[in-house]
Amino acid sequence: MHDIQIAGTTETYQVGKILCIGRNYAKHAAEMGGSVPDEPWVFLKPSSAIIRTGESVVLPKKSNDVHHEVELVALIGKLGKNLSVVEALGVVRGYAVGLDMTARDLQSAAKAARSPWSIAKGFDTFAPLGPVLPADEVKDPQDLIIQLSVNGEIRQSGSTRDMIFSVAKLISYCSECFTLFPGDLLYTGTPDGVGPVHVGDQLVAKIEGLPKLKVAVIDS
Ligand code: MN
Repeated sequence: MHDIQIAGTTETYQVGKILCIGRNYAKHAAEMGGSVPDEPWVFLKPSSAIIRTGESVVLPKKSNDVHHEVELVALIGKLGKNLSVVEALGVVRGYAVGLDMTARDLQSAAKAARSPWSIAKGFDTFAPLGPVLPADEVKDPQDLIIQLSVNGEIRQSGSTRDMIFSVAKLISYCSECFTLFPGDLLYTGTPDGVGPVHVGDQLVAKIEGLPKLKVAVIDS
């Protein structure tokens, strides 16, 4: 199990639940062939999916089409329940860049069968997480350039300005459903440009002002 340390401090958190948001950027919703949701699409990943920078994404045998989705991630540092949008960012201890790795073939099959995404989204190593910077060192989480490169070639490039639901709105919404605990993570959705990864790929995820996340892709 990974403990998450806040960069520049000795403070650590045990990873709790991993909340994730689907279709939170209009252009990504369009590339997935779907409409923009009226309310956040929330799903969960298991904490066993976390890896950190320098580790490797392991391609599962059950999938032939694993995609990268670069996302801004918020680490919750305080208990939160029924938070208003105004209160919501008060429980965020830090931010990081993360990857919501997705077995797209299994997700498409799950969508077609109207069954859950848990396996498509939840394999071991499917939640890479970069170093977490204290929230007070991030000026505006809604105005950050977000990028992913594969083998040095930029594949995703966007701005957190283009989120449909802001980080504050997402935390408020999630806190109405689940009590938030210190150590919980929120993956806030991906901009457009998602695509497949292959054995040997080197992924570098970047968000303006945050430490990079680097992971390799290996076979199981
Ligand atoms: Mn995602």
